[in-house]
Amino acid sequence: MTTSATASTGEVTGLTEVEAARRLARTGPNEVAAKKPVRLHSRILAQLRDPLIMVLLGAVALTLAIGDHPDAIVIALVIVVNTTVGVAQEIRADNAVAALSALSAPHARVRRDGSVRDLPAAEIVPGDVLLLGEGDIVAADAELAEASALLLDESMLTGESVPVDKDAGATLSAGTVVVRGRGVATVTATGAASALGRIAALLDDRREPTPLQRRLAALGRVLAAVTLALCVLVFALGLARGLPLGTMAVTAISLAVAAVPESLPAVVTLALALGARRMVARHALVRRLPAVETLGSVSVLATDKTGTLTEGRMVVQHIWTPQVSAELTGVGYEPEGEALVDGRPAREAELAPVRELLTVTALCNDATLRPPDPATPDTRWTALGDPMEAALLTAAAKTGCPAPAELLATRPRIGEAPFDSLRRRMTTLHAAGQDRVLICLKGAPEAVLDTSVLENGPGQLAQARQEAAHLAERGYRVLAVASGVRDDVPDRITAVESKLTLLGLVSLSDPPKPHAAATLATCRAAGITPVLITGDHPATARAVASRVALLGDDSEVDGQVITGADVAAGRVADLTAVRVFARTDPQQKLDIVEAWRGRGAVTAMTGDGVNDGPALHRADIGVAMGERGTEVARQAADLVLTDDELSTVVAAVEEGRRVYDNIRRFLVYGMAGGAAEILVMLIGPLLGLPLPLRAGQILWINLLTHGLTGVAMGAEPAAPGAMRRPPRPPDQHILGGGAWQRMLLLAAVVTTATLGAGLAARALDLPWQSVLFLALLAAQLGVVLGLRARLLTRQNLFLPLAVLASALLAAAALYVPFLRSVLETEPLDWAGIAIAAACAPAGFIAARLVRTAFRRTSPAGRAEASGLP
Ligand code: ADP
Ligand code: MG
Repeated sequence: MTTSATASTGEVTGLTEVEAARRLARTGPNEVAAKKPVRLHSRILAQLRDPLIMVLLGAVALTLAIGDHPDAIVIALVIVVNTTVGVAQEIRADNAVAALSALSAPHARVRRDGSVRDLPAAEIVPGDVLLLGEGDIVAADAELAEASALLLDESMLTGESVPVDKDAGATLSAGTVVVRGRGVATVTATGAASALGRIAALLDDRREPTPLQRRLAALGRVLAAVTLALCVLVFALGLARGLPLGTMAVTAISLAVAAVPESLPAVVTLALALGARRMVARHALVRRLPAVETLGSVSVLATDKTGTLTEGRMVVQHIWTPQVSAELTGVGYEPEGEALVDGRPAREAELAPVRELLTVTALCNDATLRPPDPATPDTRWTALGDPMEAALLTAAAKTGCPAPAELLATRPRIGEAPFDSLRRRMTTLHAAGQDRVLICLKGAPEAVLDTSVLENGPGQLAQARQEAAHLAERGYRVLAVASGVRDDVPDRITAVESKLTLLGLVSLSDPPKPHAAATLATCRAAGITPVLITGDHPATARAVASRVALLGDDSEVDGQVITGADVAAGRVADLTAVRVFARTDPQQKLDIVEAWRGRGAVTAMTGDGVNDGPALHRADIGVAMGERGTEVARQAADLVLTDDELSTVVAAVEEGRRVYDNIRRFLVYGMAGGAAEILVMLIGPLLGLPLPLRAGQILWINLLTHGLTGVAMGAEPAAPGAMRRPPRPPDQHILGGGAWQRMLLLAAVVTTATLGAGLAARALDLPWQSVLFLALLAAQLGVVLGLRARLLTRQNLFLPLAVLASALLAAAALYVPFLRSVLETEPLDWAGIAIAAACAPAGFIAARLVRTAFRRTSPAGRAEASGLP
C-alpha cells in the first residue's frame, strides 16, 4: 500500500515542440548507439570471400594462363553478376529488417505544449515530462516528480527481482518497467548517456542466424561435399577419355559452382524479410526474423478473452444490491440510458443504493470517458484505460451520479492498492473530511465475498455468492463492490481491505466479437488447436467459449473448464487435454505453455498485461496487442498485432507457411537443376556425347536458373490449401515430407529429356551441344512453372517475367555474336529449337505429376502435412 505523494512539477505543460526539436538536434536521438551501417566495399569483400567465388577466381586465373579467353570472360561475368545479386539481396534484406525494428521501437507518453503525446521513445529529450503507467517501459533516465503507488521492476538493470516502490524525488533508470501505479517524471538523460545506453555498450548484438538458416547451412555443406566429389569424378573421367587437362579443370570447377545452390542463404533471408513485410501489410508486426518461419509451424493458439475473443467494449447490465435489483439500458460508453426496476423506471428511493454503489466504483477507478471528438467522423464516446472501469463510469452517469471530477474534488484519493491479476481486486482510499477516510473496493466476487473482507452476515454473503454465480453462468463478468469509513489511515493493506460493507454486485457484458467463432474455425481447419486462458470466472469463460464454439462438439477433449487453482494443485493430469482455463494467474499460463511444449507443440500465446511477459517469452510465438497491450508485453512479444485482431495471428501463420513452402520449392527446384547438370555431364560421355556442356554454358544456365527464376520463387503466393492442412512437424527436415524424392525424380526427368534432345540432335546432324544447352534450360524453366502452387495466378508476375527473361537470355546466348563467341554456341535452325523446346513441357509435366503423385500416394495426408508446394 502506497500513499500518493504529490509534488507539483510546475511543468504542467511540458516542453514546447520547438524547444524539444532544438534539444533533439543537440543531444541526438534517445537510442542506444545506432549500429554503424555496413559499407558497400565490405559487403563486396564478404561476398568475394565465399569459398565458391574463390574457386571461380582461381578458375579465371587458370583459364587466362592456358589462353582460354572466352571461358575467362564468362567466369569473370559470373563473379560480377553473382556478387552484385548477393550484395543487392543483402541490402534489401537489411533494409527490411531495419524497417521492422523501426516499427516495433518502443513508445513513450510525454506532455508537450500542454497536451499528452505518444512518441517513439527515440524522440524523447532531456527535460521532457514523461507520463508513466502500468506496463510502461521507462524510456530514459528521469527524476520522479509525482508518484502514485508506483512500483518498478529494475531487474533488467540490477538483476534484483523484487520490484521497488518509488516515491517522488526518486530517480528512474531507462529500461526499467512500471509494474503498477502511475507517475510523472522529468527526463534527465537520454540515449547513450542513460543507464540503458551504458549497459547496452557492454552487450554485443550480433545477429544470430535463424534456425532455418543454420539447418540450411548444414545442408549446404553436405551438398558442397557431394557435388565436389562428383565434379572430381567428371574431371577424372574426362581425363581418362583423353580430354585436355585445362578444359576439364575449368569444366569441373564450373560444374561445381553451378550445381551448388550458392544463392540459398540469400534467398532464405530475403524470403523471410519479404514475408515479414507482407505480414506488416496484414497488421502483424514481426519483431524477430526467425518468428516468420516459426509462425508457419504453430500448432496451438492460446488466447485470452477480454478484448481478444470479446469486443472489450463493456456495458453494465445489472446492478444487484441487497435492497434492490436494477437493469440499465443503453449501449456503448454513451452516458445515455436509465435504470429499470421490474421493467419500469426506478423510483428515487430505489436509485439511492444503486447510486451509492456506482459512486464507489467511480472513485475506485482509473479510466476516463472521452466524448466524441467533433474533429473526427466518429460520434461515439470512447474509453481511456480499462474498458470495464470506463463502463462503470458510464453507468454512474446514467443513474445521475456526480461526474468523477466532482466526486474527486470532495473526496480526493490519498492512497490505493491497484488491481492485479493475483489479488483480483482493487482498493482506493479517499479523504472524506474530518480526518475520516473512505475505503472503496471492487473486485472478483471470490476475492471480495469473504468474511476476511466484509463484515456482512453469513446469510447475506451466501445470498450474494449465489447471485454472483447465477450472473456469471449467464456469461456476465461480475464485480463485487464494498466500502467502509475509518477514522485514520490504516497502514497495512489487510487492515484496509477488511470489515467493509458489501454494497452489491455489478454485472457487465462484453459480447464476443462477430468474427471470433469464424477465426477459431479457421484455426482448427489449419490444424491449430485454440485454447482459452482467462483470468475471468469459470462460468463466464464457459459462456464465452461456447458462444465462439471453442467448447462443444470436440469429443476427444474434455469439455471441462479448469481453474488456475486446479492447475496449481496439480489436479489436472494432462493440461493439453483442456481447452478452457479460468481464474488463471500468469504463473499458470507459463505452466500451460510448458505442458504443450513438452508434447512437441509450437505455441502462440496472446497477452497484454505486465505479468504476461514471462509467458510471452516462453511461448514459441508471444503475441501482444498493439493498441490495447502494455509496452512490456509488446517488447516481450515476437508478434505485435497492430489491429488487435486474433484473425491477424491466423493471417501471419498463413504468411509463415507461405515463406516456408517457397523456400522448400526453391530447394527442390535448385537442387534438381544442379543434380541434372551433374548427371548430364556424367552420363553424356557414356552415350557418345563427349563434353556435353562447356564451362561457360554451365555457368550461363546457373545464372538464369538459380539467379533469376530462383529468386522470383521466393515471392510466390500461398497455396490454396495452405490453411486447410495441419502444420508441419517442427522437427521435420527441410527436405522431409517427400521433398527429397521429388527432387531426385525431377532431376531424373530433366536429365533424360536433356540427353534425349542431345542425342536426337546428333542423329539429325544438328549442332548437338547447343541443342543440349538450350534443352537443359528449357526443361528447368518448365519445372519452375510446373511447381507453382497456383498455376495461372497474377499475384507474382515477377515469376513469369523471370521465366520469359531467362528464355530471352538463353536465345541471346545462341544469336548475339559476342555471347556466341564467349559461350562457344552455334545458332540453331527451327528443328534444333523445336527439339530443345520440347523439353520445357517435359519438365513442366513432370513437376505437375510429381506434385499430385505425392499428394495422392502418401499415407494419410502426410504430403499435405509436409507443406510442400
Ligand atoms: P481477463 O482479462 O482474462 O478477463 P483479468 O485477469 O483481467 O481477466 O480479470 C480477472 C477478474 O478480476 C475479472 O473477472 C474481474 O472480476 C476482476 N477485475 C478485473 N479488472 C478489475 C479492476 N480493474 N478492478 C477490480 N477488479 C477487476
Ligand atoms: Mg484483463
